[in-house]
Amino acid sequence: MSIKCQVMMDVMEKIAPRHLAESWDNVGLMIGSPSRDIQKIMVCLDVSEAVIKRSIEQKVDCIISHHPFIFKAMKNLRMDLPQGRLIEKIIKNEIVIFSAHTNLDIANHGVNDVLAEKLSLKDTKPLSITDSEALVKLVVFIPEDYVSVVQMAIAKAGAGHIGNYSHCTFQVKGQGTFMPLAGTIPFIGKQGKLEYVNEVRLETIMPEKIAHRVVRAMMKAHPYEEVAYDLYPVKQSGEAFGLGRIGKLEKPLKALEFIQIAKESLKAEQVRFVGDTNTMIQKVAICSGSGAEFIGKAAYAGADLFVTGDLKYHDAQRGLDAGICILDAGHFATEMPVLEVVAKYLQAEKEKQKWDIEVVYDDFSQDVFTAF
Ligand SMILES: [Zn+2]
Repeated sequence: MSIKCQVMMDVMEKIAPRHLAESWDNVGLMIGSPSRDIQKIMVCLDVSEAVIKRSIEQKVDCIISHHPFIFKAMKNLRMDLPQGRLIEKIIKNEIVIFSAHTNLDIANHGVNDVLAEKLSLKDTKPLSITDSEALVKLVVFIPEDYVSVVQMAIAKAGAGHIGNYSHCTFQVKGQGTFMPLAGTIPFIGKQGKLEYVNEVRLETIMPEKIAHRVVRAMMKAHPYEEVAYDLYPVKQSGEAFGLGRIGKLEKPLKALEFIQIAKESLKAEQVRFVGDTNTMIQKVAICSGSGAEFIGKAAYAGADLFVTGDLKYHDAQRGLDAGICILDAGHFATEMPVLEVVAKYLQAEKEKQKWDIEVVYDDFSQDVFTAF
């Protein structure tokens, strides 16, 4: 059984939530329709001539690219120019194109986390924060005997997580009043009679994005016909999201040693280094792809080394002036490792949902630069 393109988009939304993308970016469905059937997915970095050729040969009908296939506004669609030619082939072969760019860079387990893992960085956090999770507070009034049932249901739905603690609530006893009116089937009390019930006011916190799920679970577990509850927005924010990562190596390494390990781990054809190769490296900042704009942030955060790609001469000078070493491991090599991870995630989802689809990833494209 094939799946609808929308189903793939829903899975990708879990991996790389669209709202995490930078405002200047263009992500999501580039070519195709959510109702299209999909049987074979290829995950790639770029929708290149080689990727399209391979997709046609292998009957791939859905391409998920990291770099947005359509980025700048198109003013024409000329089949004699490279992009128009590709679009023509894509449409003729009924291929769907979907892109996850900065949202995949920023997301947990996305491009930067995969790069950090490849470089054996521990205790990583975002280098440049772009977003933080909105939180809401849930307050619900529960008859005393049902507190633990409701508490467990909302905790199971994800409410009440603070750091590494789950089931966080605050509970205070009080008295609730109500009068069941005509047409009600009250759990406690009788129609037309004012009731006084011993209740517990339970409050907890959760990310706004799961509030709907938690409220649904709460309603299901709560014995009352009409549940009294409030959802409040709160000023503090939850988990931070951002571009790049900063973390630590388990033990300090000489820069030269780190360069060799990184080159091998990323399968980089060539790398360039700025700084003294004898420098001892432990705190490392990274930004997959093109991250020169974060050199200052990496230096300010106390990193010994900044790993990125697309470094220019004056960026390198800025690094030297800021007293931070820089390793340019290449745009391609710092991003390629994520493809396998995204493909594996889709593969796992396919097995879980018993979809009869195939998932492959681009392991044949080469860096546009040839090392000599
Ligand atoms: Zn990139």
